[in-house]
Formats: sequence, structure tokens, C-alpha cells
Amino acid sequence: MTLLHELNEFNEHSEHSEHDDQYFMQRAFELAQQAEQLDEIPVGAVVVYQGIIIGEGFNQSILLNDPSAHAEMIAIRQAGKHLNNYRLLDCTLYVTLEPCSMCAGLLVHGRIKRLVYASPDLKTGAAGSVFNLVGTSQLNHMIVVDNGIMAQQCSELLSGFFKRRRSEKKLAKNSNK
Ligand SMILES: [Zn+2]
Repeated sequence: MTLLHELNEFNEHSEHSEHDDQYFMQRAFELAQQAEQLDEIPVGAVVVYQGIIIGEGFNQSILLNDPSAHAEMIAIRQAGKHLNNYRLLDCTLYVTLEPCSMCAGLLVHGRIKRLVYASPDLKTGAAGSVFNLVGTSQLNHMIVVDNGIMAQQCSELLSGFFKRRRSEKKLAKNSNK
């Protein structure tokens, strides 16, 4: 690899600062923790525009009796209100778990520029794991995707939550005997 090549690659990679990615994913993680405290599946999301958070959300489907109340959905609704626009051009969405098909579709409709997710969702992920709705040329918008930042922390939060919920169910079952 030539020096020029190396420099080009460096520039490509430093276009989005990793420091910023870490910072915003940390905020998404905190939101996921808020969801957990309310017994919701711990997923959190933030929308960032020009280096500023303009939308935040965490999973609230059970609380709101709303299957669409995913972290991404709530964060994007807030961001749209903030920008006073239904298109979120030049925005980045950070989320602790790979978006589902509903949310991936929403990101395309919202014209989100870049998606950064922490843990992949190998069962239902729609940003590359099972489907790839955010990078499909048949749709009219494609999204730049990065993943892996804080992946372990975010997936441990999820697996800890499901483990706790399983044991709580077991306990409830036993106490009913
Ligand atoms: Zn979703």
C-alpha cells in the first residue's frame, strides 16, 4: 500500500470521528438503560444533526400499547419536529441494536444519511443481518451503515434483561403452584 493510499484511507475513515460515535452511542446506551428500568426491552436511539442531538428515544411499546413505539421511531419523530421537516437529511441515527424491518423502512422514508448501530440482531436485523433494507438499490434511498461501537455493552444489556425476565417468569410460575 502506498502512502497516498494510506492517507486516502485514513481520510475516509476519519470523516466521521470515532470519538463522536462513541459519545453519541453512550447516550443511546443510557436511554436503553432507561427502557430497562421501565421493564421495556432495552434499546435506545438518538438522532444527530450537525453534531447536536435533536431526537432521543427508547423502547416503550408495552407502556404505550404501541407496537410502533421503538426507540428509533420515537427519536425520529422528535427529530422531525425539531427540524420542522419530514425529511431528516444529513442526520445520523445511533441505536444500540440493529433496526428491525419497520425501523429500517422508517430510516429510508426519513432519508437518514447514516446509521450507526451497536449490536447486530441476528434474528430480525434489517440493516444487513437478516435483511438489508437500508442498502437496497430497489428503494429510492440508501444509507451509510457502521456498526460495532459499544456492541458488547449493548448486547450484554439486552441478554441480561431477557435472562432476568425469564427467571422472573419462572419464579412467578413456581409461586403459583
Ligand atoms: Zn424497530
